[in-house]
Amino acid sequence: MAYGFDTLQIHAGARPDPATGARQTPIYQTTAYVFRDAEHAAALFNLQEVGYIYSRLTNPTVAALQERVATLEGGAGAVCCSSGHAAQIMALFPLMGPGLNVVVSTRLYGGSITQFSQTIKRFGWSATFVDFDDLDAVAAAIDDDTRAIFCESIANPGGYVTDLDAIAKIADKAGLPLIVDNTSATPYLCRPIEHGATLVVHSMTKFLTGNGTVTGGVVVDSGTFDWSASGKFPSLSEPEPAYHGLKFHETFGPLAFTFHGIAIGLRDLGMTLNPQAAHYTLMGIETLSLRMQRHCENAMTVAQWLENDDRIEAVTYAGLPSSPYHDRVARICPKGAGGLFTVTLKGGYDACVKLVDSLELFSHVANLGDTRSLIIHSASTTHRQLSPEQQKAAGASPDVVRISIGIEDANDIIADLDQALAKATA
Ligand SMILES: *Cc1c(COP(=O)(O)O)cnc(C)c1O
Repeated sequence: MAYGFDTLQIHAGARPDPATGARQTPIYQTTAYVFRDAEHAAALFNLQEVGYIYSRLTNPTVAALQERVATLEGGAGAVCCSSGHAAQIMALFPLMGPGLNVVVSTRLYGGSITQFSQTIKRFGWSATFVDFDDLDAVAAAIDDDTRAIFCESIANPGGYVTDLDAIAKIADKAGLPLIVDNTSATPYLCRPIEHGATLVVHSMTKFLTGNGTVTGGVVVDSGTFDWSASGKFPSLSEPEPAYHGLKFHETFGPLAFTFHGIAIGLRDLGMTLNPQAAHYTLMGIETLSLRMQRHCENAMTVAQWLENDDRIEAVTYAGLPSSPYHDRVARICPKGAGGLFTVTLKGGYDACVKLVDSLELFSHVANLGDTRSLIIHSASTTHRQLSPEQQKAAGASPDVVRISIGIEDANDIIADLDQALAKATA
């Protein structure tokens, strides 16, 4: 029987504990697992039998979360990681190598722009940044050394929705995997695999956990990409020297990427999610749909109020009829445009800083996707490392604040913004 989303967010990946019958998934706070005998141990290390060896690789609490997120995204498998940024490296790791590149959207979380434009160079990888609304430019940016295309579904800092179907078509034509960061949308609002994505990555730190308690990430594999078709992905299609010559695609089929992520990615890079964090995220996901509905409702109410306020220059909420991406939202995120948007203040940089300092209910933090309403002035914080051009392209100009609308009473959120705007523009 095919269960609906609300049922799966509670039940997928979780079954009563085989040892105790515990209904809630236990936190398996253990580093290692006793082998039945030497033959069992050898079979596990040969990947001939699936089981638990050591918690850097696999852990039952983390495995329950992996299965739950894979199910909600409609994927074949998933690998949890210690953060969203770790998940991005883990997604690229089996695909890339020195001299190879990834084509990425200019509209990304600020930290991702820095990771891709600077840090991955240390591995000999590079990123080519393109405006993903310019489909010809995306196609033109792909060369023989390109191994992946990367974008966000609803792009942080909000207000922009990527035309995933159009980008997937370009990726398909080039024989490349499309990686979609679905952090801001969550699988409740958008399921990128249904729009042609190969891999989906998340910062589970945000809406999936939902209450600002955990740092975590995940890579979900659709299981549909043919890693052997082009010869461009030898880690998956050819004998892998890092695992005594195992051919992952031939051996594991649609689970090739997931097994590679665990057996080599987690084994050698060690960006593992701990079972305590997995527990908090499992608890968060149980209420994902309810929270996302309220995030969307509140964001719409607050965005409309702000748009009609004289002190405001612009509001970039893709759910507003005035947004250039309003039609795209209906296709890519039909249940709502999320809880994240930016606001441009007529008072510029100074008014933004005063607004942030005058809010009482809102928290001024470098986070999003919390039950609480959050605000940040991106240009002086998360997007500070970027050039003015990069800031503008990422929607983080100096006169802009990013707002993550919580699930409090919408009237209270509006009242707080009203009093703080009065002070900011006095
Ligand atoms: C926060 C965030 C990340 C990074 O995730 P961490 O868990 O902080 O490492 C990546 N992408 C998006 C869209 C984010 O919001």
